[in-house]
Amino acid sequence: MTQNNYEQRKVLVIGGGASGMVAAIEAARYGARVVLLEKENRVGKKLLATGNGRCNFLNLQAEDRHFHGQHKDVIQSVLYHMPVQEVKLYFELLGITPKVEEDGKVYPYSDQGSNVLDLLRYEMDHLGVEVNTGEKVVSFDKKHKGWIVKTAAGKEHETHRVVLATGGKAGSQFGADDSGYALAAGLGHTITPLHPALVQIKLAAHWLKTLKGVKWQGAASVVIDGTVVRQEAGELLFTDYGISGPPVLQLSRQVHEYPEKSCELLIHLLPHWTTESIYEQLMTRFHLDPDKPVELCLVGLFHKRLISVVLKEAGITELMQPAHQVPVKSISRLADICREWKVPVTGTLSWNQAQVTAGGIETSEIDSITLMSKCCPGLYLTGEVMDVDGDCGGFNLYWAWATGIIAGRHAAAGKELSNDPHSIH
Ligand SMILES: Cc1cc2nc3c(=O)[nH]c(=O)nc-3n(C[C@H](O)[C@H](O)[C@H](O)COP(=O)(O)OP(=O)(O)OC[C@H]3O[C@@H](n4cnc5c(N)ncnc54)[C@H](O)[C@@H]3O)c2cc1C
Repeated sequence: MTQNNYEQRKVLVIGGGASGMVAAIEAARYGARVVLLEKENRVGKKLLATGNGRCNFLNLQAEDRHFHGQHKDVIQSVLYHMPVQEVKLYFELLGITPKVEEDGKVYPYSDQGSNVLDLLRYEMDHLGVEVNTGEKVVSFDKKHKGWIVKTAAGKEHETHRVVLATGGKAGSQFGADDSGYALAAGLGHTITPLHPALVQIKLAAHWLKTLKGVKWQGAASVVIDGTVVRQEAGELLFTDYGISGPPVLQLSRQVHEYPEKSCELLIHLLPHWTTESIYEQLMTRFHLDPDKPVELCLVGLFHKRLISVVLKEAGITELMQPAHQVPVKSISRLADICREWKVPVTGTLSWNQAQVTAGGIETSEIDSITLMSKCCPGLYLTGEVMDVDGDCGGFNLYWAWATGIIAGRHAAAGKELSNDPHSIH
């Protein structure tokens, strides 16, 4: 692809989020006249909230195992054509010095996520991208010389190429909605079922209020119809509706995957201990001082508020009784709970709390190299609107940047659509 084998094209980007801003920058760098339409009163609203304001903008471990969707072709192609090191360099050239933290998470060295937005906005301005905020696109149709894009206020924009960068439904308080899916479906695209992902899990348990706010380094597994489908370790946070924390957010995707099947969560309070070592530890604690009240036997091992809950779950309800009165089979049951505490799942919190959307535009309908729609030549797709979602830790923004770069370049400089009757040339 060279920058000088085409006439100047107009590229219209719908959506001024992460992928849309980068697509606009790349299309402009590749010589196109670029207009970006954003329905909110400013671009990059959600970006400011990412990484708790620090913007975890990449993950150096970006590999296909960290991305989910019905088909992997587009994911593998994007990872190959726009690897994470290239995206990191892209941001370094914009001015972001990366700071790499645990598990490959990358933040701006300044710890200020707003810096990423500042520099993207500067670059769009510098390249002459026309940014129109407060313009919600409600339809776009192919016309003889390209596309006509219509906004809610009745304004019409003519353009040669369109980049659909409308994101997903997650984070509705930052303006996310499902209008992008409706636009794509109207052009013949298939939308796979949409679910909130990277979101807190709701549990059915009477002890939730007691444990509200307790943090615990452990692990959790999602069990579907009796089979463990995924396990994640890290800090668990008990809440009054269920459970949160990084490992839980990762697992939430699986909760909606099989809606017709039963779903349970296994909480592993001592994930690095063998069954035998847990049992031995408990037996020692219960027999060291036979007169010690039961509720003190686990002090020094567990968070205080966890103790009464796990004892009661094991059927040990008389918390003041001396340790020697507790039958061995109750200690054995307690060991089972410490290893695998099974709790029914009732669902997840909703789009407001979710960080990403599972499901979206079927990726088999997208060219894996150019990210152009196979249904509508001249339409390019980026970011979360596709049926691709990443794990927690910078993978979703990597996906937004990488797809934005690829789509922006091809929209501006890709070869002419000779088999497209609506192509302007
Ligand atoms: C609270 C929160 C924290 C997160 N933290 C991280 C993190 O630290 N690291 C990470 O990798 N990911 C994180 N994510 C996920 C990440 O922000 C998204 O996956 C990413 O922003 C998706 O980029 P996008 O360009 O596809 O969509 P978005 O960034 O959502 O942008 C879409 C834009 O399109 C606009 N739009 C939608 N419809 C229309 C329309 N019809 N007309 C005009 N404009 C329209 C929207 O207003 C929006 O500005 C977080 C998400 C949330 C909600």
